[in-house]
Amino acid sequence: MDVDTPAEELASALGVDKQEVKADLESLLQYSVPLEEAKQSIRRKHGGGDSEDAQPESRSLGEITTDQNNVTVSVRVLTVGTRKIQYQGEEQTIREGRFGDETGTISYTAWQDFGFEPGDSLVIGNAGVREWEGSPELNLGSSTSVSMAEETVATDAQIGGDSQLIELSPGDRGRSIEVQIQEVETKTIDGRNGETEILSGVVADETARLPFTDWDPHPAIESGSSLRIEDVYIREYRGSPSINISEFSTVTPLSESVSVTDSAPQLSLREAVTSGGLFDVEVVASVLEVRDGSGLIERCPECGRVLQNGQCRVHGDVDGEADLRIKAILDDGTATVTAIIGSELTETIYGGDVDDAKAAAREAMDKEVVADTIREELVGGSYRIRGSLSIDEYGANLTVESFAADSEEPAAQAASVLGEIRQ
Ligand SMILES: [Zn+2]
Repeated sequence: MDVDTPAEELASALGVDKQEVKADLESLLQYSVPLEEAKQSIRRKHGGGDSEDAQPESRSLGEITTDQNNVTVSVRVLTVGTRKIQYQGEEQTIREGRFGDETGTISYTAWQDFGFEPGDSLVIGNAGVREWEGSPELNLGSSTSVSMAEETVATDAQIGGDSQLIELSPGDRGRSIEVQIQEVETKTIDGRNGETEILSGVVADETARLPFTDWDPHPAIESGSSLRIEDVYIREYRGSPSINISEFSTVTPLSESVSVTDSAPQLSLREAVTSGGLFDVEVVASVLEVRDGSGLIERCPECGRVLQNGQCRVHGDVDGEADLRIKAILDDGTATVTAIIGSELTETIYGGDVDDAKAAAREAMDKEVVADTIREELVGGSYRIRGSLSIDEYGANLTVESFAADSEEPAAQAASVLGEIRQ
């Protein structure tokens, strides 16, 4: 966006330095503040007051487009989420979620606390309209008025954030879930205020399993616990929805344990790849090829990367640690992906551990014999594979969690179930 022109106009109207106005404007726009709101904020900073005079036209939600700058609406509050963000170098608490009326729903961000809750019917005057991921979104700021509507605003949309995991998509906010914690670990990250501990793991309900991060560790979040977690927001992590729990989330233990799914959605490889990434998916595919870098490999003791000719890409010449893994090309006739099979499952498929593999390599004076044994076992066979699919610039990778001969395939029926690792 060209900020020179508005910066120049604003600077001359306010009688202040253009460079200063331009820098302020750029930093506001960088945080996706709509231009009009950014200009108003800069006017206020220099004592210029708001430029809005007339109240904008009343609109139903279905009529709102990103061509409008400001609107007045009557809405029902569907969800309210709370989140802290960095804004102009300072932490600011915002409210965000969705509003509904008879014609549709719209997401919103409120830059101050107007005190409304899910279910409230509101008249909102002078809300800014901005574009958010291709759709209009309402911005409620200091020039917005919020009052209770005299009548209940009708909506077909669900009021409140209660959601099953399968329903969640990146961008959802102010959601509440009832889940079982399946995995959890404490991680130390380099946060804004130095080293911070966070929790990360996997939650499940009857409909799905999803990864989560708790940015402000709640003690009730421990493996196996069944919890109601209110006010979470959803981000995309490697193409799949990921649950974000914050200091504003409330975590309440449930007296009854939440029942969880033990199956994953089964998709064709093409469907899985087109989805952009899936945390938990099952596919049935043939192994076309076992790639180089499979079998007996060496990892960097510092970072775990696989060594190439004794060299770590980051740490250079290191004393490698032997490990087993498989990189296999899967094909189901619709697409291909690379399956990454870790050491435990590889041991089952190979029929031996790292020491057995080292012994075989020594005897043959060639460590490729390990990969060859795996090739004979896998290539051409059809398998039912469950794991986590991620897509990056190098292609689609399926990190395998369970791997079994496909029993519906007659040729593979004789082969025993190769292995399954699940908690
Ligand atoms: Zn390394």
